[in-house]
Amino acid sequence: MTTTTCAERLARARGQLTDRGVDALLIGPSADFRYLTGYHPPLLERLTMLVVPAQGDARLVVPALEAPLAHEHLGDLDLEVVPWQETDDPIALVRATLEASGSAGLHPPARLAVGDQLWSTFLLRLQAALPSAELTVASTVTAPLRMVKDAAEVAALAHVAAAVDRVVDDLAEMRWAGRSERDVARELDTRIRDVHDETLFVIVGAGPNSASPHHEPGDRVIQPGDAVVVDIGGSLDGYCSDTTRTLVVGEPPAGFLELHQVLQAAQEAGCAAVRAGVPAEAVDAACRQAIAAAGYGEHFIHRTGHGIGLEVHEDPYLVAGNSEPLVPGMAFSVEPGIYLAGRYGARIEDIVVCPEPDGTGARGARRLNQTSRDLRVVPG
Ligand code: ZN
Ligand code: ZN
Ligand code: ZN
Repeated sequence: MTTTTCAERLARARGQLTDRGVDALLIGPSADFRYLTGYHPPLLERLTMLVVPAQGDARLVVPALEAPLAHEHLGDLDLEVVPWQETDDPIALVRATLEASGSAGLHPPARLAVGDQLWSTFLLRLQAALPSAELTVASTVTAPLRMVKDAAEVAALAHVAAAVDRVVDDLAEMRWAGRSERDVARELDTRIRDVHDETLFVIVGAGPNSASPHHEPGDRVIQPGDAVVVDIGGSLDGYCSDTTRTLVVGEPPAGFLELHQVLQAAQEAGCAAVRAGVPAEAVDAACRQAIAAAGYGEHFIHRTGHGIGLEVHEDPYLVAGNSEPLVPGMAFSVEPGIYLAGRYGARIEDIVVCPEPDGTGARGARRLNQTSRDLRVVPG
């Protein structure tokens, strides 16, 4: 991402701080950090902290030995780098930075938004140094920004989705029967790394394990008659892919074809329900209704989807109770599943983007994953 993009994001974050009556944003190495600065610092025991006051200059407190790295990645972004030496107290530097901007709130109480993923070792020291501060999570400020992707981010998500689709396109050519889940997962890891910067996760659940949505690939040997759920993702230029397809080895087990048809129609209904202004939970309801109508309601045991971007799971969540209206540029998964414990399960997952309204009131997500959603039958 460009320096201009980051400068704009920092300015918008400041706007959010002001709107929400928060004095400053304190963020350690995380997706929020990368989103706002373009820099992705190592997450280690030495404190690195971005300090963005609602008013005054943003500063970056970094271990002195990482200052060259920070400068290299920040380019000409207008962000003062404050290095700390091994014998300095970096928390005191953060406090001094807040005081310099007038937001240390020694006039109490300062309201600070701290990174959701800041280690407790730092948070507890921060609390001790600023005992009167009122703390909230940074996502109250950053999630509204990160949730809605700009054109470059949508392009990055489309690019990484196309990469994972190449792996999915070749699934049917891989050998399945007679191999362990772990063995297949290793091959998938290599195939994912061939087209991404890194693999983020590989789920291969065969036979009864296909009914465990977050199954970890293990020793089970894949057999004729097994359903196999394959859920894979990697990252490319910081943005994540995440897609699921279901296979069957040889002859499908009794009832499985029907279950998969119901699931495919439900996933279609979920994608069709996506439109600007529709509450996030309506997409979940569309999937759930189709599955419940076929009698599988109690077997759809997770939410329909999650936002995706610099993190695999981020806002918005497509779940009952989230009435947040969808906005053009929101990117998220639509991934209903049906799981019959002890027997088999199936899931179909695409990453989609909420499109700009076209004036006709037409519904429907822009799907970034384009591979066939039909059940893949591989030789038994
Ligand atoms: Zn999942
Ligand atoms: Zn997934
Ligand atoms: Zn997912």
